[in-house]
Amino acid sequence: LTDSMDNNYEPDVTDIGDTMSNSISQQGSDDIAFHMHPYTNAITHASQGPLVITRGDGIYVEDENGKKYIEAMAGLWSVAVGFSEQRLVDAAMRQMQTLPFYHLFTHKTHEAAVRFAKTLIDLAPVPMSKVFFTNSGSEANDTVMKLLWYRSNALGQPNKKKLIARHKGYHGVTIASASLTGLPGNHKGFDLPIERVLHTTCPHYWREGKDGETEEDFATRMAADLEALIQKEGPDTIAAFFAEPVMGAGGVIVPPKTYWEKIQAVLNKYDVLLVADEVICGFGRTGKMFASETYDIKPDVMVLSKQISSSYQPLSAILLNSRMFDPIADESNKLGVLGHGFTAGGHPVAVAVGQENVNIIRERNLVQNAAVTGAHLQQRLAGLSDHPLVGEVRGVGLIAGLELVTDKAAKTALASPGQLGTAVGRKLQELGVITRNIGDTLAFCPPLIINAEQVDTLVDAVTQALDATQQSLR
Ligand code: PLP
Repeated sequence: LTDSMDNNYEPDVTDIGDTMSNSISQQGSDDIAFHMHPYTNAITHASQGPLVITRGDGIYVEDENGKKYIEAMAGLWSVAVGFSEQRLVDAAMRQMQTLPFYHLFTHKTHEAAVRFAKTLIDLAPVPMSKVFFTNSGSEANDTVMKLLWYRSNALGQPNKKKLIARHKGYHGVTIASASLTGLPGNHKGFDLPIERVLHTTCPHYWREGKDGETEEDFATRMAADLEALIQKEGPDTIAAFFAEPVMGAGGVIVPPKTYWEKIQAVLNKYDVLLVADEVICGFGRTGKMFASETYDIKPDVMVLSKQISSSYQPLSAILLNSRMFDPIADESNKLGVLGHGFTAGGHPVAVAVGQENVNIIRERNLVQNAAVTGAHLQQRLAGLSDHPLVGEVRGVGLIAGLELVTDKAAKTALASPGQLGTAVGRKLQELGVITRNIGDTLAFCPPLIINAEQVDTLVDAVTQALDATQQSLR
């Protein structure tokens, strides 16, 4: 395990940056020569080269050597309908041929954006007023922050500008959204977070719960922590609370029982708006169309991306209720314009693909599949709880995390954080499964089209990778 290639990674933002190929192809060396990668150790990359993915088919992708992998992360938690959906190709083509681009600035609109906005408002689990289109999750959260400040100004509350997110929350990487993100790896070296952004406790019961504390008591303490922070800062200064219903990139952390009910009670008490970042959870991931339904969350703002278009096109959407939208509308009238918008926001090809993608999710009952096949995945992974390297199995629907340890009682892994996760992840990749190790947590978030048999193949490979790693540690 000494060759763990990224053992100096932040434990909470690790990724498998490993190709395991002995020879680097021409494409690989060109990649090293000309291409700078996101979320990659650039020095390690220069010596080991990339994993070159050439095609996709259902839940599988194939590399340049023809090796096939189960894409157990659906790309970046995003490809709901699988990697070869012809209907999305056709939808993009039709839109390209009719109106390849138009914008939404200065009272212009186009049919694809209007249609999809209506679809999203109809689909929302709580009454929403308007949709604002953006291109990525980061851009969407960044926009929400600006709109919250704009709204507070509109309401004559210029001090109500602070935003609370959570440690280990993930909301993106722009200057503003990376500040919301509660992972040190996204702050270090970047002079972040910015002012006005605060972080409250990460609600991970297994790690953060105290001896003898029940899950419900732990949730009560999480709500008390939030309330204490609001009081310390001054309730009149807090505009909103940003949270993923289930935390994804922080390590697939499922909320403890009664958490959301207690958190919402605090937010309501202090007139703090709730922004549900459903970028990973939305469009069926948790077994309901939105995780806000799964956990009975009543957000004022919902942020959607990734599975919105199965990531076939870059697209994100912000859903605003009237409490959020109405003051913003008045302010745009007062100032003459809402001085915000992106050239490609609501790009016709992206929203046309989003619309067709949502049609497919509904027609093929993929939300139901996430519930049923997801229950099978959770049950199969729970079967690994007794494995000596498994600390905690957690998840809901078709998203799961397997936190690895070498000492179950102490909940610790190898000397260097992420080393064990990297070792098991590497083994899995050898066995034909692409996953992602977030420190020592292996994340699973397969396409929503996965079936029970494919889940079995996946979990069998996980078992094999755990056994092999356990052997190598002896
Ligand atoms: N919010 C959540 C919950 C995410 O998981 C992500 C990306 O993983 C983002 C926001 C940022 O999205 P993007 O990478 O499209 O900027």
